[in-house]
Amino acid sequence: MTRPPGAGRFAPSPSADLHIGNLRTAVLAWLFARSTGRRFLIRVEDLDDRTFDDVAARQLHDLAAIGVTADEAPEYQTAHTARYDSVIDSLTERGLVYECFCSRKDILSAPRAPHAPEGAYPGTCRDLTDAERAERRAGGRPPALRLRSDVDEFTVSDVQHGTYTGVVDDLVLRRGDGVPAYNLAVVVDDAAQGVDQVVRGDDLLPSSPRQAYLATLLGHAVPEYAHVPLVLNAEGKRLAKRDGAVTLSEIGIEQALAQIAASLGFTATTAEAMLAEFDPVRLPREPWIYHAGGQ
Ligand code: GLU
Repeated sequence: MTRPPGAGRFAPSPSADLHIGNLRTAVLAWLFARSTGRRFLIRVEDLDDRTFDDVAARQLHDLAAIGVTADEAPEYQTAHTARYDSVIDSLTERGLVYECFCSRKDILSAPRAPHAPEGAYPGTCRDLTDAERAERRAGGRPPALRLRSDVDEFTVSDVQHGTYTGVVDDLVLRRGDGVPAYNLAVVVDDAAQGVDQVVRGDDLLPSSPRQAYLATLLGHAVPEYAHVPLVLNAEGKRLAKRDGAVTLSEIGIEQALAQIAASLGFTATTAEAMLAEFDPVRLPREPWIYHAGGQ
């Protein structure tokens, strides 16, 4: 029996038009998948941004325009809420979920272990008694659901970064407003879609141990990771739309592809032709500094 090939993916949140940095990451995700015989998928991560349909449509249009083509129709997370519900139910049955009544401010001001990074959950609501929980519920604030994790850290391997160990706290599975949390949705969707290669910006590297741990807990294989350098503006800050002249409609397709190719050291200027020159080992390790409006 032949096994179906695994898949890579690009998973934009439809919060704003894709800028040249996002497009470059998408090209890289496509190159990683295609060069390893994987399928390539696009997933619209619209749990948070469900009102921005036109943005999603423009993102899909821009990806197609630069040759980042998917093998299947794009999947929208809001179409799969039952998927997240059933995973949270199964974790609840295993005794691995608890209600958390903390605000962000509570978490930031709570004492934390010496090496825990800012924002890591200190476990405040982990061992509330039934009475304490009833009292907090009566307080009116709808609780978030957190995972009762039994490790403090987890190690992943990354094509770009080698072995990476990072914090695993009691991560949020469902937010207080009822929306499935990013870390849960990403893990559940990647597994459901057969994604075994995750290529994305290296701002998400610190999230990968949490996601890999959750995948393991759910009985899924951990995908291969490649966290690629971000694109920065002339001030060395993360590129943003306000930097001006950074989206495909502002730059133009040909020019954008030429800039992406140059930044990756390719002479080819279409996604298809870049495939022949692609070698992950030779990818730049440093952020690309982008001078909007003129290179
Ligand atoms: N939707 C996330 C973002 O746009 C990316 C998620 C992922 O690639 O895992 O930042």
